[in-house]
Amino acid sequence: MVKVKVAVNGYGTIGKRVADAVAMQDDMEIIGVSKTRPNFEAAMAQQKGYDVYTLADRVGSFEEAGMPAAGTVEEMVQNADVVVDCTPGGMGEANKALYEKAGSKAIWQGGEDHELAGCSFNANSNYEKALGRDFVRVVSCNTTGLCRVISPLDREFGIKKVRVTLLRRSADPGDIKHGPINAIVPSPIKLPSHHGPDVKTVLPQIDITTTAVKISTTLMHLHTVNMEFTGECTAKDVEDVLGKQPRIRFVGQGITSTAEVMELARDMFRPRSDMWENCVWNESISMYEGELYFFQAIHQESDVIPENIDAIRAMMEIETNAEKSIAKTNKAMGI
Ligand code: NAD
Repeated sequence: MVKVKVAVNGYGTIGKRVADAVAMQDDMEIIGVSKTRPNFEAAMAQQKGYDVYTLADRVGSFEEAGMPAAGTVEEMVQNADVVVDCTPGGMGEANKALYEKAGSKAIWQGGEDHELAGCSFNANSNYEKALGRDFVRVVSCNTTGLCRVISPLDREFGIKKVRVTLLRRSADPGDIKHGPINAIVPSPIKLPSHHGPDVKTVLPQIDITTTAVKISTTLMHLHTVNMEFTGECTAKDVEDVLGKQPRIRFVGQGITSTAEVMELARDMFRPRSDMWENCVWNESISMYEGELYFFQAIHQESDVIPENIDAIRAMMEIETNAEKSIAKTNKAMGI
């Protein structure tokens, strides 16, 4: 089988995970990753066998550090069928001309605007929209987590409206620039938050409003989800639908916090203690005066990773069926 050639531009929190997930698949391969500095992450990437590329004006610094780069980002992009752009939010836009010039397809992450790619993606919600496309944006960790629960419930019962409060981690665990904070920060103060409109880039038919608060944790986000349906359903019906979803894990058995969810991921020997699935407390699923409530925890560093894999398959049309791609990705990653 000819494998799809994938390059990862920006080997940080998301990029390194995308690279490893691509390497686990049998229908795609990593042809290079890019780093701006010859640091420990670049060294680890080389140790794993990835070709590490860098910006043209940084080639010398890699030489000096004794870890020569495989070439420039421009050269890497030219050799790729698909570039997964994982540069910091807002920086990916500047790379569009590079991808267009090289004739390579590109995937951006949730830190970029919908308009950049013109197609915002969640595998279980709108896989077919990405079929054959040159540019796709995989939505953010929070939007991914919300689409995964909204889509199947809308398909099954019809959603009248969704209201969500997001408790957001203030920084990623390895981030020394943004956290930890000793505060609870309404984020943003001006309501509603951008997360609702972002869900609508994938599911335009959904009436959704969100509020968000940053809290002093690095582990995970937590969502309090409230929904009203057009059709009749019970808490048990909702549990049955969510329980059948390929990227939703029910948590219980004494797990009462995000810390314990992460401990579970460590016990499962998940790489980097990643939790690729939404973790829904099924005990929390309740109907009150006709409205649904539940809690879910979202691992911000990893839930978008399998979605990137499915986006590659859809764009390259090596699998045109969403369920089959999701099942293939999940099997390869051990979800
Ligand atoms: P990050 O800062 O951890 O990693 C970005 C990487 O890109 C770093 O290695 C940086 O050195 C490199 N880089 C910077 N400028 C570059 C350039 N010009 N060319 C090539 N590489 C460059 O960022 P991240 O958290 O992985 O975020 C990447 C994207 O994923 C953003 O759009 C972000 O919004 C989105 N995202 C992040 C999270 C999360 O929780 N971290 C979750 C979902 C989506």
